[in-house]
Order: sequence, then structure tokens, then C-alpha cells
Amino acid sequence: MGEYKIVVTRKIPDESLDIMKKYGELYIWPEEEIAMPYERLKEEVCNAHALYTNVGDKIDRELLESAPHLKVISTMAVGFDNIDMEYARERGIAVGHTPSVLNETTADLAFTLLMAAGRRIVEGADYIKEEKWKSWGPMLLTGQDIYGARLGIIGMGRIGEGVARRALGFNMDVVYYNRNQKPHIEEEIGITYCELTDLLQTSDFIVLLAPGSEETRHMIGTEQFQLMKKSAVFINVSRGTNVDEQALYKALKEGGIWAAGLDVFEEEPISASHPLLSLPNVTAVPHIGSASIATRKKMAMMAAENLVAGIQGEKLPFEVQA
Ligand code: NAP
Repeated sequence: MGEYKIVVTRKIPDESLDIMKKYGELYIWPEEEIAMPYERLKEEVCNAHALYTNVGDKIDRELLESAPHLKVISTMAVGFDNIDMEYARERGIAVGHTPSVLNETTADLAFTLLMAAGRRIVEGADYIKEEKWKSWGPMLLTGQDIYGARLGIIGMGRIGEGVARRALGFNMDVVYYNRNQKPHIEEEIGITYCELTDLLQTSDFIVLLAPGSEETRHMIGTEQFQLMKKSAVFINVSRGTNVDEQALYKALKEGGIWAAGLDVFEEEPISASHPLLSLPNVTAVPHIGSASIATRKKMAMMAAENLVAGIQGEKLPFEVQA
């Protein structure tokens, strides 16, 4: 047993726990699907040296102030908007994450949502289960064509690129908007840079993949939904805070846009009674972008390796560069 205390805020695969065990005494929150309560986490981190966390935990200044010995925070995610990075940096706490390993799995989910929302898959499945299907109907459950449509991707990073590559197989006309233009990707995969206004006005499908931050908070709101086509399908696999959900609800309810596919929400978990979930043109899933068995196991291992490096004062293999 090592000399350090390691707090793990969810039950994770045993292989990942095994490599951390050698370096310290583990406190493991026993639940997989119930978040460790904030106050409980505060109590546990007060004498901890390392924290293994995920997108469901709020790692704010108050929590970090109650953890004076913390050397490393390792999150089993690529996004780190739930961590007070500024304060962690000020304190010299290393922060690790799991980029790249989840690109393809998350791009798969983005494309799944695009297709499901565009072709009304969940509505169709419910239609059968609810005994509503009486006969074939010429315009029954008709949706939007995906093949040959224009796809606008906002945030052309690792996952955005994966979505673009998939779209090319569907002969989609792919445009993107990004903080910085990326000529090498344009050349390599044959996509076109577009100003945000243009992208919003002309795209049939819009996929949001910019990170969650103060800068991107509500980057898609009333004004942006008003620019979209009435037939537009909007997909968010990034962070819920990037979208003004009240504006999204209004756009969907009043026919401003056609449908939405959502993996992330302003508040997670979203309540089943949230107005957005009452709309038939919303396809919603519970933040499962990277949730394939293989990818989640790799993420768990990568996060453990980051933690082990940090606890020994070594450079993290995947340190957050923010
Ligand atoms: P990434 O490689 O860092 O890509 C993010 C891209 O967004 C970068 O190209 C960045 O541009 C761009 N960007 C940043 N701020 C922007 C802004 N204000 N306007 C337009 N573009 C902006 O990240 P990634 O690995 O693709 O992941 C993207 C996000 O997806 C993550 O941050 C995470 O929040 C989310 N995610 C969700 C799931 C899920 O389960 N739903 C899974 C994985 C990731 P620059 O080149 O200028 O930096």
C-alpha cells in the first residue's frame, strides 16, 4: 500500500483500480449510476492526494479549497468544464483527461442522433409500441433526407472531424465553423469553412461540438435558432450549457426548427418532466456519447494512468492544455 490517499468518485472497472492500488489507499464511492454527493466528496478529499473524477462531479474552488494536499485531478472524460481550471492551475494541481480515445465512439453517437432525429426513429418505435400503427400511410412519420443534405459542424476538433468523415459517406455537403480555421482538414477531407451565420442559415443538419466554457455558454440561443431553416435538425453532443434550452424549446415547439437530437443538457441528469422531453421532435439520450464498452474501459484506464503519473509528481500522459 502506498502512502497516498486516492478518492475515486464512481465504481469503475477493476483493471483501472488495480493500477492505482499500488500507489495509495483507495476510497471508492460504491455506486456506478449515483453521483457521490458534493458534501460527501468534500469530506473525503480533505486528506486526499489524488482525485479520480468524471463529468458528473462539480470540482469547484470550494471543493478544492477543502483538499489542501491534492496533487492531481484525473477526469474520465475529455471535457473539463466541471473543474475550476484556473484555481487548479493557481494551486499547481495537475489535471488529466482522456482525449482522442473516445473520438470515434462519440462521433458514432452524434451521427446516430442525427439519423434518429432526422428520420423520427424513436417516434416511430413508440408509434408501434403504443398500438397506433393502423396502416401504411403516404406521409406517415416522414422525415428529412440525410443523403446529400448539407451538414454544418460547429467546433471542428477531434470529434467534429470524425463526424465530418462519416457524413462524406452519405454524400453530405459538409461545412464547418471553428474558432480557428483549419485549412489542413479542409484539404485532407474536403470540407469547407463557413462563417457561423452562413452555416446556421444554410445547413440542413447542425452538429454542435465546441467545448463547454464561459466563452461558449449559450452560443446557440434565440438569435441562432431564428437563423436556422425551419427544416433544420439540431444535434448537441458537446455540453448542455452551450445551448439556451428555453430558446431551443421555443424553436422546436413553434416550428422554428424541425427536430433536435440531444445527448447533453444544461442540468444533468435532466428531469423526465423537463419541457423539452414533452416534445415529439426531441430525441434525447443520457450523456452516452462515449459509452461503448471498449471505449469506456480505455477511458477508465487512461484516467488511472494520468492519476498514477500525477501522484508521483511526473508529467501526466494526457494533461489538460487549457
Ligand atoms: P477538441 O478537439 O478540443 O475540439 C473542440 C473544437 O472546438 C476545437 O477545434 C476548438 O477550436 C473549437 N472551439 C472552441 N471554442 C470555440 C468557439 N467558441 N467557437 C467555435 N469553435 C470553438 O475537442 P473534442 O475532443 O472534439 O471534444 C469536443 C467537446 O465535445 C468536448 O469539449 C466535450 O465537451 C464534448 N464531448 C462530449 C461527449 C459526450 O459524451 N457527449 C464525449 C466527448 C466529448 P480551436 O482549434 O480554436 O481550439
